[in-house]
Amino acid sequence: MSDPRRIVIIGAGLGGATAAATLRGRGYDGELVVLGAEQHRPYELPPLSKGLLLGDTDEPDWVRDEGFYREHGIDLRAGTSATHIDRGARMVVDSNGDEHSFDRLLLATGSQPRMMPGADQPGVRTLRTLDDSLALRGAFATIERLVIIGAGWIGTEAAAAARRHGVDVTVVDQVAAPLLTVLGPEVAGVFQELHSENGVHWRLGTGVAGIEEGAVRLTDGTSLAADLVLVAVGAAPRVELAHAAGFDLADDGGVAVDATLRTSAPEVYAVGDIASQFHPRYGKRVRVEHWANAKNQGEHVAANLLGGEEPYLRSPYFFSDQYSLGCEYRGLANVDTHRLVVRGDLAKREFIAFWLRAGQVTAAMNVNVWDAGDALKALVDGQVAVTPEQLREADLPALA
Ligand SMILES: Cc1cc2nc3c(=O)[nH]c(=O)nc-3n(C[C@H](O)[C@H](O)[C@H](O)COP(=O)(O)OP(=O)(O)OC[C@H]3O[C@@H](n4cnc5c(N)ncnc54)[C@H](O)[C@@H]3O)c2cc1C
Repeated sequence: MSDPRRIVIIGAGLGGATAAATLRGRGYDGELVVLGAEQHRPYELPPLSKGLLLGDTDEPDWVRDEGFYREHGIDLRAGTSATHIDRGARMVVDSNGDEHSFDRLLLATGSQPRMMPGADQPGVRTLRTLDDSLALRGAFATIERLVIIGAGWIGTEAAAAARRHGVDVTVVDQVAAPLLTVLGPEVAGVFQELHSENGVHWRLGTGVAGIEEGAVRLTDGTSLAADLVLVAVGAAPRVELAHAAGFDLADDGGVAVDATLRTSAPEVYAVGDIASQFHPRYGKRVRVEHWANAKNQGEHVAANLLGGEEPYLRSPYFFSDQYSLGCEYRGLANVDTHRLVVRGDLAKREFIAFWLRAGQVTAAMNVNVWDAGDALKALVDGQVAVTPEQLREADLPALA
């Protein structure tokens, strides 16, 4: 394919904005249009359930300064959605009726909160955008009882923030412990205890039968009174446009991309939450809904949009902060089949959890331990042969 002169990016979040900035950083001087459905310039989502919701800050972390896009000739159209992709004509139509022709197209439309029946009533919220976060924080000042449906990362982080605001919080989930499916029972127990100590009430192992005005009905026949309900039952990739345009979707719901992040159309790429990548390291499709993935894929795809063929090889990484607990997770483990090894003290909430398969570390999570990041990355990425004893006792940099 010849060098592109017109690149269109759909989605002005972390992945899309990082790709745009990297394209300019690599010397691309053709047309560059970024369409963003939100009125705000691109920002990062993690503070929305942490610092911003806690009230520690009033601004999110912006991906780039306000003047950056103009100064770098990036035609950022905030408040403008892409509504149609005409693949044959290589054209994107936006919500103003404007048409943008492209030589290369990048899809970076992110995710949207999964919904459930009753979630569209007043008094029920989700948390995805800056406006959601500010509205939720405002509500914390006026309500007494919050019911959070979903004990995943967003549900637990929102619970911690609501407790800081003095709100009475109950978290409902059908699983037996918060974050259970990602962390397994031992490590999930650490999070459960932390929240219990901070006054969170749990209704675990219980489904939601319905949301009504002022109450959440549970499948065990009981009801929880709620001034506000936060639905935090996961996110779904926004793939409607890609689907309508005829690009292949993967079984996990994302847009199918190859190792180089290219979709089933050779001139179209996808990054971030929507990208279901065939990941050479894992030999299967991986779709990662995390900050580092959107940022790193956004940086990586720029070279491929300009004609490169480089596979994206990074392993997943994410972080969370809840009360006095901070953690980072690297890799990809199956907690049902990979063996857990703990270095440090679960009860003190100062430890590193490793997951092992066939004598290799598939994932490592440091909790309130901050001097091991490089060694943990090397252990996960290097596929080093290790024993549980070494992981518990040995000098980690030397082991890696
Ligand atoms: C509250 C919250 C907290 C999080 N905390 C963490 C964390 O602590 N650690 C971590 O690793 N990850 C965290 N994440 C996840 C992480 O932020 C996401 O994985 C990452 O932002 C995904 O980036 P993205 O570019 O794929 O999508 P997004 O950042 O969602 O950006 C997509 C953008 O595309 C826009 N868009 C969608 N459709 C269209 C269209 N048709 N036309 C134009 N624009 C469109 C959307 O409005 C949106 O602005 C958090 C997510 C949330 C919601």
